[in-house]
Amino acid sequence: MLTVMKFGGTSVGSPEAIERVAKIVAGTEGKKAVVVSAMSGITNFLVGVCKDVPGLREETLKTFEEKHLAVANALFQGERLEAFMKDFTPRLEAFRAVLYDDDARLNDPYYVDNVTSQGERFSSLLLSHKLQDMGIPSVALTSEDAGVTAVGRPLNGEGDLAACGRNMGVNTALVIAKGIVPVITGFYGVTADHHVLTFGRGGSDYAAAVVANALNADMLEIWTDVDGFMSADPRIVKGAVKIDEMTYAEASELAYFGAKVLHPRTIEPVRKKHIPLKVRNSFKPEEPGTLISQFRKPKNELLRSVAAKTDLSILTIGSPEIAYRPDITAKILSKISENNDAIYSISTSLSTLAVLIHNNDVKDTLKRLNDLEDSDVERIDVTADMALICCVGDNLMTTVGVSGEIFGAVKDAQANVNMISEGASAVSLNFVVPMDQAMAVVSALHHKFVEE
Ligand code: ADP
Ligand code: ASP
Ligand code: MG
Repeated sequence: MLTVMKFGGTSVGSPEAIERVAKIVAGTEGKKAVVVSAMSGITNFLVGVCKDVPGLREETLKTFEEKHLAVANALFQGERLEAFMKDFTPRLEAFRAVLYDDDARLNDPYYVDNVTSQGERFSSLLLSHKLQDMGIPSVALTSEDAGVTAVGRPLNGEGDLAACGRNMGVNTALVIAKGIVPVITGFYGVTADHHVLTFGRGGSDYAAAVVANALNADMLEIWTDVDGFMSADPRIVKGAVKIDEMTYAEASELAYFGAKVLHPRTIEPVRKKHIPLKVRNSFKPEEPGTLISQFRKPKNELLRSVAAKTDLSILTIGSPEIAYRPDITAKILSKISENNDAIYSISTSLSTLAVLIHNNDVKDTLKRLNDLEDSDVERIDVTADMALICCVGDNLMTTVGVSGEIFGAVKDAQANVNMISEGASAVSLNFVVPMDQAMAVVSALHHKFVEE
């Protein structure tokens, strides 16, 4: 039995948290591989640093060093502290070299990936040394050491699952076979030409899923700071409740459309190998958490969980002939997708095509659409600052009156619906409202279907 255990930023954010996590690892039966995030706040700090690297180099190193050494000094003494420092000092020097590499800063498109990946390189050292201090054989592995291979554009990488399987099958599997617990850096992988490539913010969940896939794990556990996958974001909805069981389809829809408890792509790598995933609370290890797998016990909950994806824009593209010339739809969509930006929803009418994309992608998308012939595209309207509401529930496609019930709650929140996507997924019903009304809509839906 091999369990891949991922611990998020708050779970490794203090000496007490690291001790708690080390006990969880120690108490887990069978073989284990651990994946960690940076300590909470560190990645945000590094993102800030990137905006002014030459100015802040020494200050950055000092703050960074102090934050990690404060935790190390609270956790370790004597020989253990010395052993920790032996690993810590060269890593800090390597970080220094990155900050002073002006050539890379100016010319390497993956420079920000490299700087922001630094947090995980140090949290993994802290946890691995804590495990060793408890007598558990452990080694801290960077994604480079472990063989986590990535492909894609800067800040938006994905795991190369085949290459990860080949590389980790040699490097990491051997470590595990010897009964040593590897503590692997989350958040990033390495490209074939040795660039550091991050998986997007919150990417350690996804990194752990890639590791689980590569090692053919029996279980992936995502340890975080809430009791499991909940019926809504507990920061928005006070009455949110924990869900016991979900399917891959349900969890992936919600994660993709805004449930920040899992990185949007976490489910893909584990679903491919039918590896069950649990979301658990590292502050309450006695709680069973949420089990996510292919199937679950049937329930009859119209709405099981609701999420909101914010900062989106609707492009409404007018073309009088769309209905008669399907090639126009194809041309428009291929222009929009040229840069590989996400399209969150599509809807058509006789003479318009509405496409939902991220606010940040609008400018470049409009530029590309400008290349199309005037006879193909007559006009484009942009409605910015929209939010997509994703409702996941049972029998959404087969229950008469579901939409009426759901949109009734939206009406109660006095929100206007700008776009609807229903029928595309058997497990979810999505619609778009103005962003400033999204939280009211989520609360109204949750109140009507979950709390009442
Ligand atoms: P970590 O650092 O462990 O990765 P994150 O902050 O990324 O933790 O994710 C956990 C947070 O996700 C929770 O504290 C919670 O506020 C938020 N969240 C949003 N939607 C949900 C949901 N549906 N269920 C549980 N938590 C959610
Ligand atoms: N440390 C990274 C971030 O803050 C990755 C993660 O926490 O999942 O985005
Ligand atoms: Mg996270």
